[in-house]
Amino acid sequence: KEEAKQATMEDMQDSKFKVQGVWVFAEQSQGKIASVAYELLGIGRKLAEELKSELSAVLFGPSDEVQELIKWGADKVYYADASQYAYLDDELYARTLVKLINQHKPEILLAGATAIGRSFIPRVAARLRVGLTADCTGLEIDKETGNLLQIRPAFGGNIMATIVSPTSRPQIATVRPRVMKRGEYNPDKKGEIIKIEPLEPTGKVKVLERVEETSFCKVNLQDAKVIVSGGRGIGGPEGFSMLWELASLLGGTVGASRAAVDEGWIPYAHQVGQTGKTVCPKLYIACGISGAVQHLVGMQSSDIIVAINKDPNAPIFNVATYGIVGDVKVIVPLMIKKLKEG
Ligand code: FAD
Repeated sequence: KEEAKQATMEDMQDSKFKVQGVWVFAEQSQGKIASVAYELLGIGRKLAEELKSELSAVLFGPSDEVQELIKWGADKVYYADASQYAYLDDELYARTLVKLINQHKPEILLAGATAIGRSFIPRVAARLRVGLTADCTGLEIDKETGNLLQIRPAFGGNIMATIVSPTSRPQIATVRPRVMKRGEYNPDKKGEIIKIEPLEPTGKVKVLERVEETSFCKVNLQDAKVIVSGGRGIGGPEGFSMLWELASLLGGTVGASRAAVDEGWIPYAHQVGQTGKTVCPKLYIACGISGAVQHLVGMQSSDIIVAINKDPNAPIFNVATYGIVGDVKVIVPLMIKKLKEG
């Protein structure tokens, strides 16, 4: 154990001085690159600029969209297009990524906190014997040290923790989808696509069957451009009828706080927050929601937040673009009336 510990520290010290570049693992499913990959390129570009280094994407599995990664900000794409990479194989993905990291020594590696990222990125960190901060909701560069500040909710969402890996490289973080914004799309951007020599699967794990998830829920909160969300202040299930009416007039859907879900006023599929969905619509209207930190982590990246609450001191007003102090049962019908009048 001692030997291993010493070797790790030496490796870290040694590698810290050679590392460079920000890497984003771009996951795909059936060739379609996941939206979170473009979000990671958005934050990755910012981090790379602050570190004055390059931004690279890593793509495993055949895809027609590889050029999109460059147009969304990557300078280079390390691309394994062999068929054995088409679906997640933890062992194969981890071995291939570790080999690449050992060859190129990136300073930072970001992946989505998705089923794929959560499954194989810990194996990568363990093999490299470096740390991993899971489920980050914020990433910044410490201006003094150049270390990555990895921000995530901790202790059941009661605090936001900032985690630093001062010696281990690469600094690895999985990032919650829909929290980071995409960067700029440049259709003329040029970049380099570097084909990776494929590895063979170990055969330790064999995929027998793939069954696509069928959702019974029609709610597509995470893609909605407008969300009208209700909390305990709505007063009961009937309060949600007016929220549905407002949402449909605005071309959106309805979300909810956990309190409203726990009361049984609306199904869990609508819950926004730490234990619900993370959303990033253009417009989020919070009706009768106090603004607990567990709710905020799921919606605070929305472009415009309108809060309606009868308590002028409700914490939701701290993140709101526009605040309306008043009774939702008065304000929402007024909004509906105005919208109907055109
Ligand atoms: P309350 O906090 O009760 O607030 C109701 C608000 O409505 C008040 O501000 C009040 O002033 C206002 N109001 C009342 N009547 C009216 C009216 N007529 N007109 C206008 N305003 C009115 N919460 C989530 O939302 N999502 C999560 O994913 C989540 N995960 C959690 C995970 C953990 C581990 C824990 C411990 C908690 C979690 N919570 C989550 C719960 C969270 O802490 C809060 O309890 C919850 O968000 C409160 O919901 P609320 O704002 O609707 O209710």
